[in-house]
Amino acid sequence: MPNLSKTSISTLVFPNSGYAEIRTDVITDDRSLFAKTAFNKNDIISTFYWIEVYDKPTRLTVQIGEHQHIELLPTYLECINHSCDPNAFFDVQKRELVCIRPINKDEEITFFYPSTEWKMDVPFNCCCNSQYCIGYIAGAKYLTIKQQKRYKFTDLIQSKFTK
Ligand SMILES: [Zn+2]
Repeated sequence: MPNLSKTSISTLVFPNSGYAEIRTDVITDDRSLFAKTAFNKNDIISTFYWIEVYDKPTRLTVQIGEHQHIELLPTYLECINHSCDPNAFFDVQKRELVCIRPINKDEEITFFYPSTEWKMDVPFNCCCNSQYCIGYIAGAKYLTIKQQKRYKFTDLIQSKFTK
């Protein structure tokens, strides 16, 4: 989850494109991904892929099917933290990380974990400080109808809402 008071050291992810970098909190060792360039809504921030599909979720997996969970590649995408006011979305059909609202240079890239996860392996209390913060993040299964309407979800998650 984003920590707004980060004391950070930086590691450049893509020296050639320079579009994002990992920042590591020197105290907690938590990693985050920050934009090194601005993005507009609907821009593709990155493509992604996977090699193995697992039948159970872990802290790091993204859900792509009812019993299908993947580890993101390139691996730096694992550094993208949750926010209740996210600026990115993992389109698992197109395998694209998409910008869903304008992102400034040096802004943290975040996504809404329940947008891909029905029931999370490791729930947590969110401290994103967003005006929309929903507090306990455990997966889409636990969202209210009002919360379901506020966010973009994968087709799988969306289909489970309407069942
Ligand atoms: Zn939050």
